Amino acid sequence: MKKPGESSSQTDHSSSRNGRQETSGGLWDSVKKAAFVIGSGLFFLAAFRNSVTWHLQRFWGASGDFWQTQWTKLYRAFDGNEAALFIVGTLLVPTFCFWLFNGFLMVVDTTGRPSFITRYRIQVDKNNPVNPQKLRYAVWTVLMNQLLLSVPLVLLTYVVMKWHGEPCGPDLPTFHWVLLELAVCGLLEEIFFYYSHRLFHQPLFYKHIHKIHHEWTAPVGVVSLYAHPVEHVCANMFPALIGPMLLGSHLATTSLWFSIALLVTTISHCGYHLPLLPSPEFHDFHHLKFNQCYGVLGVLDRLHGTDDKFRKTKPFERHTILLSLTPLNESIPDSPKPTQ
Ligand SMILES: [Zn+2]
Ligand SMILES: [Zn+2]
Repeated sequence: MKKPGESSSQTDHSSSRNGRQETSGGLWDSVKKAAFVIGSGLFFLAAFRNSVTWHLQRFWGASGDFWQTQWTKLYRAFDGNEAALFIVGTLLVPTFCFWLFNGFLMVVDTTGRPSFITRYRIQVDKNNPVNPQKLRYAVWTVLMNQLLLSVPLVLLTYVVMKWHGEPCGPDLPTFHWVLLELAVCGLLEEIFFYYSHRLFHQPLFYKHIHKIHHEWTAPVGVVSLYAHPVEHVCANMFPALIGPMLLGSHLATTSLWFSIALLVTTISHCGYHLPLLPSPEFHDFHHLKFNQCYGVLGVLDRLHGTDDKFRKTKPFERHTILLSLTPLNESIPDSPKPTQ
């Protein structure tokens, strides 16, 4: 007859074995699901490219000459100096967009005005107003990340892109090609950001690297690039750079993509669910709870079940609605409703 201890130990062993199998099985399932969804997405993207974007192509065709003329003028103004063009397009333009938007957000965060913006604050009792010392330190860190890491990395990207293509060619790509490349860049960023971000939540990496970004449980726009240098390179820069590098994108597309990526991450961190802008509640919840909502688009979170608490608790009721026209904080009850 087995001793109770033996039985329990065996049960523990078998359950932990099952647990491991379930874990690896669950992960494999998730990988298969992710491959299926992404594969299908790419298939449909390719299938619809010639139908839906055909209409857009017509629009672009009408105004295509205009943009081509502007590009030719710019190209000549730089006397064909492609390196200088690349610096302006990939560093100056996106950085200008980033600081212009964040400059406005910082005025709102520090002054609490205008109220038609602050009334859309997600975590109503936070950053009202923002701690100026903490904000100054975040701005300083972001500037250092941009100057010491982003600049050399983008210059290195130019060398790589120049090596296997012509990133600043005299001909602009077609409109539907730009759209397709933006979609692929977005998809690649989601994949690389999601997994690198999850890796940074492993205890060892979290403690030494990612914890800095999470000092802000209620983020503001500029916190989007407030990170440890290793994280800035691996989780902020690399997922954004990989698309244009693999595709050999034209400077016009790369510039547009970097500007969009910087504006999207700023919106994800801004703390306000503003009308007509994508909802930042998903990433706001990540800063609040740490172990939920790792991605940007939310597709991989759904596949891996890392958004279950977000969906179950519904902390911010209308997170799926992109166009919110009523102030969000008016719809959040002061205390949770009793379950019936
Ligand atoms: Zn964040
Ligand atoms: Zn995180």
